[in-house]
Amino acid sequence: MSDSVIINIDNDKVFVNFDDGHLGKYLARSLRLNCACAECIEEWTGKPLLNPFTVDSNIVAEDYLLVGKYAVQFLWSDGHFTGIFPFEVLRQLCECEICKPE
Ligand SMILES: [Zn+2]
Ligand SMILES: [Zn+2]
Repeated sequence: MSDSVIINIDNDKVFVNFDDGHLGKYLARSLRLNCACAECIEEWTGKPLLNPFTVDSNIVAEDYLLVGKYAVQFLWSDGHFTGIFPFEVLRQLCECEICKPE
């Protein structure tokens, strides 16, 4: 499993270079909607607290931080930043042509 990734932010897209060579592609908004922090998902029940309609269609990632060797934390343009995305989760959410063929 990856212990480092390289992140590139391009407008409303986020690219993640995994260390096995896979290039992950995402819409910033898709990642934002999959935030699993305590403000977005109720901790004990797993119930979604985030209303997708409140997330702007042109939301972008403004910055990011690597968390240890296992996760990435993004700063979204709506000011939200508490979500931690483990590399494994990023891999599962990947929207590239290989992972999510049309
Ligand atoms: Zn969140
Ligand atoms: Zn992929």
